[in-house]
Amino acid sequence: MSEHLVRRRIFLDGRWVDPFDSKPIEVTDCFTEARLGEAPGVGGDDVGRAVDAGRRAWSRWASTPRVERARLLGRVRDNLASRVDVIAQVWAREAGMPIAAGRPSTAGLAFAVLDEMIEILSAPHAEERIGSTIVVEEPVGLVAAITPWNYPMSQLAIKTASALAAGCTVVAKPSEIAPFGAFFFADAVAEADLPPGVFNLVAGSGRPVGEVLASDPRVDAISFTGSTATGRRLMEIAAGRIARVTLELGGKSASVVLDEGHLEEAVTATMASCFRNNGQTCTSLTRLVVPHPLVDRAATMAAEIAASQRLGDPSDHSTTIGPLVSSAQRDRVRHFIESGIAEGAELVIGGSGAPPGLERGYFVQPTVFANVEPQSTIAQEEIFGPVLSVIGHAGTDDAIAIANGTRYGLAGAVFGPDDEALAVARSIRAGFVSVNGGAFNSRAPYGGLGQSGLGRELGRWGMEEFVELRAVSLMT
Ligand code: NDP
Repeated sequence: MSEHLVRRRIFLDGRWVDPFDSKPIEVTDCFTEARLGEAPGVGGDDVGRAVDAGRRAWSRWASTPRVERARLLGRVRDNLASRVDVIAQVWAREAGMPIAAGRPSTAGLAFAVLDEMIEILSAPHAEERIGSTIVVEEPVGLVAAITPWNYPMSQLAIKTASALAAGCTVVAKPSEIAPFGAFFFADAVAEADLPPGVFNLVAGSGRPVGEVLASDPRVDAISFTGSTATGRRLMEIAAGRIARVTLELGGKSASVVLDEGHLEEAVTATMASCFRNNGQTCTSLTRLVVPHPLVDRAATMAAEIAASQRLGDPSDHSTTIGPLVSSAQRDRVRHFIESGIAEGAELVIGGSGAPPGLERGYFVQPTVFANVEPQSTIAQEEIFGPVLSVIGHAGTDDAIAIANGTRYGLAGAVFGPDDEALAVARSIRAGFVSVNGGAFNSRAPYGGLGQSGLGRELGRWGMEEFVELRAVSLMT
């Protein structure tokens, strides 16, 4: 594995090239805390070169027939398929995703989106006419794709597949904390022989590289996934030149159990979501909102599930919870746990200390709090670790008010009699709501309300984020 993990070049204009100026960035294995590998941290000139390449390639790619774009995306897909194992193995070490879940996840969403884009591009497509007006669809232009560390390959694959399908070109900037998934994706693109400059990859840390990229006036759209704070900053930058932004940000999603909801099913599904990728998932259900009389039972069930987790080496197939991505992230989550205790929530299991026997590696104990006040810090802030808050509600209206009572609006779940649960789901202000365990659909629009984001990814809606519409009227 290690031979793949010293990366000194960036992908620019169809080739892997040496940066003009690069400070290597050491990437840490979050389980061993040892050096995992190295990625380049490039300078502004290299970002400029990548933007040049993307701009030069744009008009030719924009006019490339849709079927040809589909064919080339198919090659990316095939090249990615041969890399699934290594991507999942490295994901486990760079961000802590347990391999038993990481392998199917790697083989899942990115491919679903690539397939969807290929299908859309392969279907007959005609310009829409409204009376004597032609609705002209054009690619937005050059897209800056800035991605985080929690799903390092698939987040970039989603953005890139959708942008390229729309006829846009891309300059990608992955997180310096877990960059390798993006490099593997770039390998797959490199071998697909896309026209030079259609996809470019730079690397380095947020401010010096991400901000320089986003600020470049030749970038037409910014597609970002990450924290709300950085999303806000990127929106400010985009506002300066009225550039388009798509923001997939944080969440504090609620799982609501109605009076007649199936408690055990609800707790099981909520815990699976809360602990997915060690809690480092933006759609995680981290607030379990149950009728007041059921708080203790729900918390006991949740604690049993927390106690049954196998913490350890994320490369081991029996591990269900691995380390968090970094010491900073571990400390941040532990600090939230301490604030929960300080603010009077009942600690049912877990805590802010290292899990026994796991002092090395960025581990956090799976933690369940009960009787959490809806306005307290742990019920309001995105923790991004394996921490659940059980909150009591006093009936359906109260449950909806609690579910909607944060600045976020990314995801949610409802458990109860079908019709009632659907009605409640319609009242929850979130981009995705599951009813009685309804599965996430990668062909449906995905994105947040409120401070969870702006715009949509996935399906045709994800592609449309990168399409500009114009109206051309003819004489009748
Ligand atoms: P960030 O938002 O800082 O990082 C996401 C991406 O943005 C990374 O590529 C990062 O680069 C880049 N970036 C950071 N600052 C800038 C900037 N000024 N201009 C352009 N790009 C920038 O997330 P953090 O890593 O700080 O995580 C903090 C919290 O954010 C987490 O605890 C979690 O709550 C939330 N988060 C949510 C995610 C989601 O999927 N919704 C994903 C990740 C985090 P680099 O990493 O190289 O600095």
